[in-house]
Amino acid sequence: MAKAEFDVPELQEYVEVPELVEGTMAHLSPFVAKPDHNTALGFPGELVDDWHDKVLDKLDDLRSRYRSLQVYLDACVKCGACTDKCHYYLSTKDPKNMPVGRQDLLRKVYRRYNTFAGKYFPWLVGAKDLTRETLDEWYSYYHQCSQCRRCSVFCPYGIDTAEISMAAREILDSVGYGQKYCNEIIAKVHDKGNNLGLPGPAILDTLEGLEEDVFDETGVEVKYPLDVKGAEILLVTPSADFFAEPHVDGLIGYGKVFHEAGVSWTLSTTASEAGNFGMFIGSYENMRRVALRIRQAALELGVKRIVFGECGHAWRVAYSFLNTLAGPFDFLDPRYPVPQHICEFTYDLIQQGKLKFDKSANDDMTLTFHDSCNVARATRMGDKPGGQFDIPRAVIKAVCNNYVDMDHETIGEKTFCCGGGGGLLTDDLMEVRVKGALPRMTALQNVIKDEGVTHMAAICAICKSQFTKVLPYYGMDMDQIVSVHQLVSNAIILTGQKTDEDETDADDDA
Ligand code: SF4
Ligand code: SF4
Repeated sequence: MAKAEFDVPELQEYVEVPELVEGTMAHLSPFVAKPDHNTALGFPGELVDDWHDKVLDKLDDLRSRYRSLQVYLDACVKCGACTDKCHYYLSTKDPKNMPVGRQDLLRKVYRRYNTFAGKYFPWLVGAKDLTRETLDEWYSYYHQCSQCRRCSVFCPYGIDTAEISMAAREILDSVGYGQKYCNEIIAKVHDKGNNLGLPGPAILDTLEGLEEDVFDETGVEVKYPLDVKGAEILLVTPSADFFAEPHVDGLIGYGKVFHEAGVSWTLSTTASEAGNFGMFIGSYENMRRVALRIRQAALELGVKRIVFGECGHAWRVAYSFLNTLAGPFDFLDPRYPVPQHICEFTYDLIQQGKLKFDKSANDDMTLTFHDSCNVARATRMGDKPGGQFDIPRAVIKAVCNNYVDMDHETIGEKTFCCGGGGGLLTDDLMEVRVKGALPRMTALQNVIKDEGVTHMAAICAICKSQFTKVLPYYGMDMDQIVSVHQLVSNAIILTGQKTDEDETDADDDA
């Protein structure tokens, strides 16, 4: 098991709702962004002297621009339905990690300065002055929210804590109090085109290596093209797909599917990142700048379709916002959705009988599937409600013989977060990441014990990276998390692919 400087929760059969313990996570705050990271995004380099007035001005500005925020701040009736729905509360016992407790950190200040009762009778309505302590508390607890939106599913008023968390982070950024991890990454995208700061030659080198590997494995010349003008499809995928495990195995799978479909496709150095951390910090301007790179790449390359690889929040930004951020996409082929998810693409081919599989290639595994929050609760796939749940499972079942779902209270719309989403996937937040994974780890442990599950598949780069790190804390192996298109890659039979029999014959001839 990985070393931890904090108590790792013990896995039980069920996650019990804990007694409240005040302040258990008050010590945890992510590293603060350096001036260069902030200014690259258009924010002040460091906390401004007049932060108090600027925070209140920004709050007013956001309330006037986003009607939803105003409604969320006013509508809560303290019914308590959300209190036990957050994975961070369930695993840390800290009441400020309850969704309503988290919301109240901002709501108290809103009430103090913006409501009659809060101005004259603050003690009656829980209104609170804005102090430096408040600001630090926001910084700590709004970076212990993965913006997973699970709580909003259970709130009778549909209050979305994720949007309050995004607003709080936007306010903090606006006064120069940004988070290092998110802001550094967004600056890299503005500069190089991807979260990792990978330059074009490094991406090209990786793709050439993949072509060689796939040729050695199959005897088929599958291409992984970069910046090819006139290709039909632009694939926009998380940069983790270029090198991280198990992400890269998914990228290998996308290439095999495109090859077998007989379509021309390309990746782009300009849009070498599907992720859009602008959403995590609530910054429309930064989200737009990142999204515009995709439009620019599509125009420069003259593609007809845009397909997104496996990335949860990227699919949310793409599905929900891409047209308003960077549209219109009237230069693309109108016969296809803009954008399309790689699972939709593969599923369509499976439905048409255009792909051949040897499902036994995955017989060494019994699979389950982790629904990623942003896909599950903020998007759809295909043309039927629930397609975002059904299509990835249909793809897995088409390529694997052994599949089992986890407890239905922990999947689909009610899925539990991996614990590392929303800009929390950084080592300085490892404690909340490991603890927040508890409900998912519990459900996984149960199907491992009861159903013989060996691996969990996911279609999100963040989930894959998070599970790779946290599985060992719970006594499991890091390679128990796999990409959905890794399973496709294992099972697909490419036209002209060399078989085991071919290899035996070659050995005999030698
Ligand atoms: S959005 Fe998710 S992480 Fe944030 S408070 Fe709600 S359940 Fe918790
Ligand atoms: S469920 Fe909604 S209304 Fe009830 S306490 Fe939570 S946020 Fe407030």
